[in-house]
Amino acid sequence: MGLLDPVVEAARLLRSSRYAIVFTGAGVSAESGIPTFRGSGGLWRRFRPEDLATPEAFQRDPRLVWEWYAWRIKMVLEAEPNPAHRAIARLEEAGLVKAVITQNVDGLHRWAGSSNVVELHGSILRVRCTRCSYRSNLARVPSEIPPRCPRCGGLLRPDVVWFGEPLPRGELERAWREAGKADLVIVVGTSGVVEPAASIPLIVLSHGGSMVNVNPEPNRYTGLADVEARMTAARFFSLLLAELGLGDV
Ligand code: NAD
Ligand code: ZN
Repeated sequence: MGLLDPVVEAARLLRSSRYAIVFTGAGVSAESGIPTFRGSGGLWRRFRPEDLATPEAFQRDPRLVWEWYAWRIKMVLEAEPNPAHRAIARLEEAGLVKAVITQNVDGLHRWAGSSNVVELHGSILRVRCTRCSYRSNLARVPSEIPPRCPRCGGLLRPDVVWFGEPLPRGELERAWREAGKADLVIVVGTSGVVEPAASIPLIVLSHGGSMVNVNPEPNRYTGLADVEARMTAARFFSLLLAELGLGDV
């Protein structure tokens, strides 16, 4: 099969779809310079998630967890949307994509212009108090680590979902609703191992919809997807826009 075939096939599915959605993971932001967790160059090669991204780790050592987050927040603040984020926003504008469901916490889909975005795992650019209902956006890395609540003095935590924590109910319900309506899901840059998020694209298959899987490496959806695009997100979406006659990103 030629390199362009999956793109041509994806364009055909997208044009004939009624309600297409995009489901993304860390890989869609890799080309913005934000490391993934798994896959080559993934963060978890150097850190163990259970040491850092759990409520237990935060209780044990909030400073260590916050130092790791400070490093990631800085990286996200310095990052910009890449051609994949921009193309996904362009496809929504063109009416070809109806929603983006993301596991990412970096906010890059909204920044790129996507408007119907479901953020399943929260935002690294928000904090919330562990004691009261205080919540706030972050425009810079907190100067004091670990940061304290200006209202009650309690510990602030990143407003993200940690391993072992439930997903925000409203976002999860929105994701289910979108997947329930979709006849096509384009899965981009996810290993597909973090549940329950990873099951959302399977809802589309379960009622007869199609799947395009965009990933340079095989993953959980390989073998299930109708189209396997073994390439980076930025390359795939640049080729796809050209194929659809929607210009460059
Ligand atoms: P993951 O790290 O488990 O998997 C990343 C996947 O992206 C791998 O399958 C890899 O092959 C693929 N990939 C790498 N480079 C790519 C590229 N250029 N184009 C397309 N695909 C590429 O990430 P995940 O599946 O999202 O799950 C892990 C959890 O990590 C999520 O819950 C998410 O909240 C969190 N996370 C978020 C960010 C972020 O917000 N940018 C970054 C790291 C991790
Ligand atoms: Zn508080």
